[in-house]
Amino acid sequence: MKVEHYKAFSQALVDWFLANGRDYPWRRTTNPWAILVSEIMLQQTTIPTVLARYEAWMNQFPTPAHLAEADEETALRSWEGLGYYRRVRSLRAAAIAICEKHAGVFPCDETTIRTLPGIGDYTTGALLSFAYNHPAPLVDANVSRVFARVFNDATPIDSPAGRRKHWELAAKLVHPTNPRAYNSAIMELGQTLCTTGGPTCLLCPVREFCTTTEPEKLPVKLLKKEASAIEHWDIWHLSPQGLLMEKQPDGKRHEGMYRLPRREQNEVSKLPHMCDQKYSVTRYKVTRHLHRGNVASPKNNERFIPLSELHSTPMASPDRKLVKRFLDDSEQ
Ligand code: SF4
Repeated sequence: MKVEHYKAFSQALVDWFLANGRDYPWRRTTNPWAILVSEIMLQQTTIPTVLARYEAWMNQFPTPAHLAEADEETALRSWEGLGYYRRVRSLRAAAIAICEKHAGVFPCDETTIRTLPGIGDYTTGALLSFAYNHPAPLVDANVSRVFARVFNDATPIDSPAGRRKHWELAAKLVHPTNPRAYNSAIMELGQTLCTTGGPTCLLCPVREFCTTTEPEKLPVKLLKKEASAIEHWDIWHLSPQGLLMEKQPDGKRHEGMYRLPRREQNEVSKLPHMCDQKYSVTRYKVTRHLHRGNVASPKNNERFIPLSELHSTPMASPDRKLVKRFLDDSEQ
């Protein structure tokens, strides 16, 4: 696409979005806190999953102060099902910073927004454009895919050169008076028409500007490492005091959350086998072998949690599923 067409490209996207844009709760507000929550949730979770959880979360934590005042276990428990718990810790840290350093008022200038914990380039662009209608650039995987095709560019989108190029393009193309609609539009184009499989070019509002003849071959990405297989051996110890659970220490991926206690394979191999659970985490394919057994001496970070407290105990989805499955089974 030629530089002289940039303005028309941005306007075509805005016009298309104003007529066809999807209605989401976070698009009905300019409240920066509500927008930050939606953006953090949407970073690694699908729109349908976020839609199912967003309004309940906003009812529980309608302002930064509500989240800042909640303890970490409550925040983690409320985030269950959304995954990638590092995000809720960052969100809570941002809420605390807003309360402690800005008297509970969400900052509106780029420099201050960037000082909040967990806020990077993308989230800064989203906050500035969606909350304040400030012409700030924004690039995510959808925007990169559209750029790679519109500009027929085979630079890997996840390479430093690809990222730099797309952020520069985003800054040049962002609509000067309606950046809120423009940034939503280009992401929505990538989600709905310019998709990863075969794009629907016939319906595309910017097809006259698009220079690729083989959109299916774009974008190009760097080669990814293959997923690694890992195995774990865990114990199910249910006693009159409750279910034995292990609290994850600081610095671990699920810091502050609970899981079924983990042991070496030779410590559990003679115990009755209950089930195998398989799931994927980032680039790992996990197989978890669960055995029933009595732990004579729980470790320092292990404790029996009464069954009545398990529902409010934060744990990742794989553990929640096992707890639900075997406690439901034992109640039948
Ligand atoms: S014309 Fe096709 S490939 Fe080009 S931006 Fe539109 S949907 Fe994507």
